[in-house]
Amino acid sequence: MDDEGFIWTDLVNSIFSEEEAALILSIPLSYFRTPDTLIWTKEKNGTFTTKSAYHVAHSSGEDYGTGPASSKMDAGVKWLWKALWKACVPTKVKNCVWRCCTNALPTQANLQKRKVITTATCIFCKCERETVEHVLLECPRSVSIWFSSSLSLRTGGMGSGGFQIWMIQMAGELSKQSFDLALVLIWSIRKERNSSLWTGSGYPLSNPSMAP
Ligand SMILES: [Zn+2]
Repeated sequence: MDDEGFIWTDLVNSIFSEEEAALILSIPLSYFRTPDTLIWTKEKNGTFTTKSAYHVAHSSGEDYGTGPASSKMDAGVKWLWKALWKACVPTKVKNCVWRCCTNALPTQANLQKRKVITTATCIFCKCERETVEHVLLECPRSVSIWFSSSLSLRTGGMGSGGFQIWMIQMAGELSKQSFDLALVLIWSIRKERNSSLWTGSGYPLSNPSMAP
């Protein structure tokens, strides 16, 4: 909410997809218009403490390992963010790709992890677990889109290392123009899936003539 107690509609619309923004903006707000507050979720009372921050930092280190491999990963991630924010694409595309890279999408796998649903099978191909890698790289329709684009990328099986790793690789291998196109394709794939889901129109599976 802004200083006058109104929702930042434009900001929400610029960060989230049309459908997600509609859901967020439909959340009823308090009539008392209490000011926004920063809450540190690692403490029960919402107050920041250095002790809990240390635990967060420590567990993050365990996730990525330590030593040279970790340094390489950090450098790769920095390289990716730099390439992403320098790209000549609309901000909504950058925000979408950033959310994909940080696994901040409401995929079936993520919803299952949060116990919102019990199964995580892809709702379109109904074959694989719907992770961000599956959605963007390995679902049959996505495989066709990547291969039939001017990039001619074979993405089937490329998500095993994680979507962020794949993106770091792309940022290093593709020309700036091709990287920009890849960003727009990611945004388009996600938008097409969302539209199909919300309109119930079904999701066209791969066209055999375009499949690798
Ligand atoms: Zn699928």
